[in-house]
Amino acid sequence: MNTDFLQKDLQALEDLGMYRTLKTLDSPQGREIILDGRRVLNFCSNDYLGLANDTRIKRAAAEAIEKHGFGSGASRLVCGNMSPHDGLEADLAQFKNTESALVYSSGYMANTGIIPALMDRHSVVLSDRLNHASIVDGIVLARAKLVRYPHADVQALGEILKNLPVSQRKLIVTDSVFSMDGDRAPLKEIVDLASSYEAMIMVDEAHAFGVFGRCGGGLVEELSLGAQVDIQMGTLSKAAGCFGAYVCTGKVLRDYLINKSRSFIYTTAMPPALAQAARVALKIILGGSQLRRNLQENSDYLRAEIKAMGFDTMNSTTPIIPLLVKDPAQAVALSKRLLEQGIFVQAIRPPTVPKGTARLRLTVTATHTKEDLDQLLNALKKI
Ligand SMILES: *Cc1c(COP(=O)(O)O)cnc(C)c1O
Repeated sequence: MNTDFLQKDLQALEDLGMYRTLKTLDSPQGREIILDGRRVLNFCSNDYLGLANDTRIKRAAAEAIEKHGFGSGASRLVCGNMSPHDGLEADLAQFKNTESALVYSSGYMANTGIIPALMDRHSVVLSDRLNHASIVDGIVLARAKLVRYPHADVQALGEILKNLPVSQRKLIVTDSVFSMDGDRAPLKEIVDLASSYEAMIMVDEAHAFGVFGRCGGGLVEELSLGAQVDIQMGTLSKAAGCFGAYVCTGKVLRDYLINKSRSFIYTTAMPPALAQAARVALKIILGGSQLRRNLQENSDYLRAEIKAMGFDTMNSTTPIIPLLVKDPAQAVALSKRLLEQGIFVQAIRPPTVPKGTARLRLTVTATHTKEDLDQLLNALKKI
């Protein structure tokens, strides 16, 4: 195969400062990691509560491997559905106070499986302009009409809804915490609009699950909107420190997804040990108020200090703190200089974020110490 045409595309990316490469960890995830052989402070993981390397979760996984084996052997509907899968779904439904829950192999697969199951060519999906790529891909797979409304703009969303035929099937979908800006969706207002215009509503809590809400259920829990949100989706790979994703919803919708959702039907069940580990993670999240307080204090402190240094942190109010640079090559250069000082912060560039908004994306966790945060601030000051 002649790969010249591919290399030309890659060169073009490189020229624009948008070429991507992999870095490798030689340690578990944590506040401090070994990256390409060097010990550095880590400010890019989504392991908000420090559970990715938690002893209780690791032990649960190890015990479950002994008991249930490693692979699940088949899709859920064939013979891969094991008691830990059922157990995890029962726990999730109870946790979220919904009729039922369904587990997917990842958040990406949940979003690309839920939306096409519910929507078709005749439907319209109203999606925040900054929603996660997996939501956009789900809408494309559904072949539904995609209307991207301006970020968090309730008025614009209302205008769009007003002009749609009453009989058309509609879905409003939004991240609750936006993964690259670290701001929150105006969920209460969106929920009100959905009920006024009889639209279904789906909320992606990937970055809010475990982090917000008294029990860590997410922003929907924090705002007591559980009864109004039709589809609460979230991932088990971020604050929960595991892998996989959930949808918490009504029983009819769950049955519908089991029958119609292709990314649920046509893939092997997650390893049972993973489901069992996630059940332990859920328990830790439920009792994790102190972790959430630490997380909040760490992010408030870091954001205030970074702002005081004159950086634009956009509208962040969460542990995701963007540091707007604009130019992709400059963002990469800044990330590189921080790494030289032992601080790992990834640069985020288009197409992950809109053109002209390249940035460093800092994420804080509950496990970072005050010294860690000060070390980062000092490195930034030097630059
Ligand atoms: C990370 C993320 C996903 C994907 O979840 P995975 O479990 O990592 O596949 C979906 N939506 C949002 C908003 C995310 O941030």
